[in-house]
Amino acid sequence: MQEPIPFNKIFRSGGEQQAVASVLESDCWHGDGPAGQRVESMLGSWLKSRHVYLTTSCTHALEMAMMVLGIGKGDEVIMPSFTFVSTANAVRMQGAEPVFAEIRESDLTLDPVDVSRKMTSSTRAVIPIHYAGVSADFDALYEKIGGHGISVVEDAAQAVGAYWKGRALGTVGDVGCFSFHDTKNITCGEGGAFLTQRDDLAEKAEWVREKGTNRTAFLRGEIDRYTWISPGSSYIPSELLAAVLEAQLQKKEEILLSRKTVWESYHEQLGEAYEKGWIRLPVVPEYARSNYHIFHFNVTEEKRRDSLLKSLREAGIGATFHYIPLHDSPYAVTHLGRRDRLPVTERLAASLVRLPLYPDLLPRKEEVAGRVRDVIHRFFKHGSTGGAHCR
Ligand SMILES: *Cc1c(COP(=O)(O)O)cnc(C)c1O
Repeated sequence: MQEPIPFNKIFRSGGEQQAVASVLESDCWHGDGPAGQRVESMLGSWLKSRHVYLTTSCTHALEMAMMVLGIGKGDEVIMPSFTFVSTANAVRMQGAEPVFAEIRESDLTLDPVDVSRKMTSSTRAVIPIHYAGVSADFDALYEKIGGHGISVVEDAAQAVGAYWKGRALGTVGDVGCFSFHDTKNITCGEGGAFLTQRDDLAEKAEWVREKGTNRTAFLRGEIDRYTWISPGSSYIPSELLAAVLEAQLQKKEEILLSRKTVWESYHEQLGEAYEKGWIRLPVVPEYARSNYHIFHFNVTEEKRRDSLLKSLREAGIGATFHYIPLHDSPYAVTHLGRRDRLPVTERLAASLVRLPLYPDLLPRKEEVAGRVRDVIHRFFKHGSTGGAHCR
């Protein structure tokens, strides 16, 4: 068998060890130290964001977003069902109701038409996800929600360094949330960021992130002691993690370019399978500039997806599916009132395949994409007739 290609491999900039070592030699290991501040200003100037706060995860940034917007019991927040569980948990933890809407067939982002169907007088916020690093359709979304006092929180976990009409994702809505988990493009293991362009939300974010106190303003020398201002928690990552992030960010162009090149190689090799109607390839709308976080495609006959995954894995390609839609999850079924069917989401989730995509694949992109192509062609020309291998 040919060499196995794992689904993910962490990018090393080469600078992480030295960066961590210098923190360990210093007497500042806690968060908001010099490295943390440097990373926040790097992100701020790169992405043109007025406020950037590092957090312990994107999950925590999403929780902060719900807290600073004052979302609570009786409020509804619309989001795609096709997302990571943290999007919905953030809402639920404040006692509010997640309301699930469809995604669009073309790019798997939140469907603004279905959002408008799901809006009620209790809708307080919408959380679009930029799936695979491709922007949600903000023009269409704002057209539907405009004038109703609905906030937009971007779950930009996958979208660091991706753009909508030249604006960095994470800076378009009221709040943007990033992830630096080690499955994402830029990582410190576990980490995230909270972005906002609104001064009122930034002030509250500083309190919530620092245990509900105004200690951040105190550290800036703006007040002479700090105290309890609001409910809050501990969402500041340690200086050790910030140092890793700083080393990674120094290589962000290299990361982006190598991912793009590998992505394009898959796209090219799978063109024929698309023309034959076996699969549907991802679409990047012209308003979006991707950061190439995921390469995915949809199998036209969804019942054959699982056996195709099996064939790819047998050929050593670490291909995988993605989210199980949240509206169908055990928690949603037993604890959330609404039971809408979401047929488009269900079909797209059941037919999705993700391929390995990371900078290490750059030197062997032709070989890997060629192997994937061969498996797909063999599978659809002579493969099993579906169902037989379904687990
Ligand atoms: C990865 C991811 C998250 C969670 O990020 P963490 O940093 O692991 O908390 C949330 N939402 C989406 C869409 C993600 O892809």
